[in-house]
Amino acid sequence: MTNKELWGAALGEIELSISRANFITWFKNTSIISNENGRIVIGVPNGFAKEWLENKYNTYILRALRNFQEDAKEIKCVIHNINDFGLNKPKSVDAIKNPALSAFEINEKSGALEKENCPYINCEANLNPRYNFEGFIVGENNELARAACYAVSQNLGKLYNPLFIYGGVGLGKTHLLQSIGNEIIKQDPAKKIKYITAERFANELIDSIRNQKVNQFKDNYQKIDLLIIDDIQFLSGKEKTQHEFFHVFNALYQLNKQIVISSDRPPKSIPTLEERLRSRFEGGMIADVGKPDLETRTAILQAKISEKNFYMDDEAIKFIAENIKNNIRELEGALNRVIAACEFSKKSPTLSIIKDVLAEIVTSGKKKGIQNRHIIEAIADFFNIDQEKLINKGRKKEVSYARQIAMYLIRNELNTSYAGIGDYFGGRDHSTALHAFEKINKAMKSNEKLKEEIEIIIDKIYTTV
Ligand code: ADP
Ligand code: MG
Repeated sequence: MTNKELWGAALGEIELSISRANFITWFKNTSIISNENGRIVIGVPNGFAKEWLENKYNTYILRALRNFQEDAKEIKCVIHNINDFGLNKPKSVDAIKNPALSAFEINEKSGALEKENCPYINCEANLNPRYNFEGFIVGENNELARAACYAVSQNLGKLYNPLFIYGGVGLGKTHLLQSIGNEIIKQDPAKKIKYITAERFANELIDSIRNQKVNQFKDNYQKIDLLIIDDIQFLSGKEKTQHEFFHVFNALYQLNKQIVISSDRPPKSIPTLEERLRSRFEGGMIADVGKPDLETRTAILQAKISEKNFYMDDEAIKFIAENIKNNIRELEGALNRVIAACEFSKKSPTLSIIKDVLAEIVTSGKKKGIQNRHIIEAIADFFNIDQEKLINKGRKKEVSYARQIAMYLIRNELNTSYAGIGDYFGGRDHSTALHAFEKINKAMKSNEKLKEEIEIIIDKIYTTV
């Protein structure tokens, strides 16, 4: 086996055991450089990847290599220079090694951002100074995305371009994206930054077309050093806007200007995304944010409580963290409600007060008030398909795939009978619904992409109802 074959085979194994985003991020542009007596040297594009491969993925890599070369015993990474921008060890690596880097410590040190020094630029940049790295708690769910954002803020336009961050609602995407901007302002107030949601971008573009100022619109974008576009999935199905965005993107990209994008799903799952945009996005770095585990939720609560100069004992914090699991926005919302209730009643937050306040939020979780139509709406929106088509006719592959997911979700979330589901979908037979349920249920076990998509859809359903 040549080194190339060995690495190809090992990558095939690794790909199966880690998330797609991690795989692309850390293993792209890597190769085996030498292989002597089981000591294998892997070439990686930058110091950042070296750090991750050696420390975090070491065991995965060795395990995968041993399938094909029994005596593989040690891996080392060296930076080789296809993409060498002279970076060795971005500062963020320290932060990755110590995810517990407590927000309290840093918050006290950093104080407010230097907003006063550059109010004009900050205002133009459209950034909320509250969203900074210091106030962002790192957990397993977001360490990759956080590290990537931080690295970009230290190597603007040079390291990962574009940087694409995706994940469900309320998990910290906007916070991270804006942290990059705020960090840049801190380092160099002269840098031109623009944060804009994709929706706003589309509206500004439409206005500029109406006022015959498209060229001016585009020129303005070319002057930007860091362009942050939030919630890009909004452009799904909007061809004209995508087209113009592509030009803005290219112009900036060619000038080595940094572009950072967020989305509720990975590029490959954004329906009707122009192929050339998708491949541009996939050509950069993609990182996901997931749901926080209990430990991270607890740390976030503790940070928010101290930020607000409030006090709550550990048992109370644990209760909230154990019961509010979906996302961080909800967690903050719950905390705010508890604080408001305590202030109103002039009582301290005992467990019984907290239980009362949260009773509504906690029991209103699953299944409350969700109907077929909410599921249909979410799926139609996700796949950019007419609701009508989803329910009635249409045998096109994409439509029937989306329909099967809809049937699966109606069964799973609402426990409707198969006959009832068949009826709802234009009088189809119960066996069609059963088949759809079983097919999706089975596919979920092996298909990461599908699983991810279904999670996003469920999130949407529960956050919009
Ligand atoms: P998204 O853009 O993914 O929907 P946001 O960035 O708006 O989510 O986050 C929702 C809220 O949760 C914000 O107030 C944000 O500050 C907070 N938040 C999210 N993640 C974290 C984190 N890791 N540490 C501290 N606060 C967080
Ligand atoms: Mg957001």
